[in-house]
Amino acid sequence: MMTYTHNSRTGNKSKRSGELLAQKLQTEGISNAQVLQAIAHSPRHIFLPEILAHKAYDNTALPIGQGQTISQPYIVAKMSELLLANGRPKNILEIGTGSGYQTSILAQLTDKVFSVERIKSLQFQAKRCLRAMDLHNISMKHGDGWQGWASKAPFDAIIVTAGAASIPKALLEQLVDGGRLVIPVGEQTQILKIITREGESYDEQQVEAVRFVPLVPGELL
Ligand code: SAH
Repeated sequence: MMTYTHNSRTGNKSKRSGELLAQKLQTEGISNAQVLQAIAHSPRHIFLPEILAHKAYDNTALPIGQGQTISQPYIVAKMSELLLANGRPKNILEIGTGSGYQTSILAQLTDKVFSVERIKSLQFQAKRCLRAMDLHNISMKHGDGWQGWASKAPFDAIIVTAGAASIPKALLEQLVDGGRLVIPVGEQTQILKIITREGESYDEQQVEAVRFVPLVPGELL
């Protein structure tokens, strides 16, 4: 059983650590001011098992249980920045809630976040952390992200935080015209791609090589 530290979430120490992390990401090429501000204000340590909390402001991915990981802050910031590159999205669909850390950043950048996770226990824990942060513009669903979230579509932006063997068709269909999907595509290692909807066609750009846990199809845990 992993324990988490909800109560020490808003201390000055974590605020300072968040600011230092944001500064580091800026030197690594993240330039969007809103994204940097969200990173500076998010207590990443509450999203981690207590035993790893001291590493929360390092720029690394870390295990969160169930064979899953909290993404590296650089990649969280990078993907968020890509979602915002054509202007502020009004809503965002996230596939792979995991710890909820990326979700907390997105919630500070848009009106409404919808997040889908297939592992119930991770979703439960993420919900507690997001509530502790006083973020209330997030809806969560326990389900298979390959299907997206049809009843809440269309979305201005969609982010997938697990490596997809191919691009899920449902996600393309759930984008508004002009909307963008940011997704790592590939098996062992992936290429981060931006797919922009242009009517019934889709423009594809490649960003950089990345490494995520796999986007698993089908049944729920
Ligand atoms: N952004 C998260 C990343 C978590 S790792 C964070 O920083 O914490 C990726 C997550 O995707 C895992 O929690 C995994 O359970 C989830 N996942 C994998 N396949 C999925 C699917 N088909 N549908 C929904 N979630 C999925």
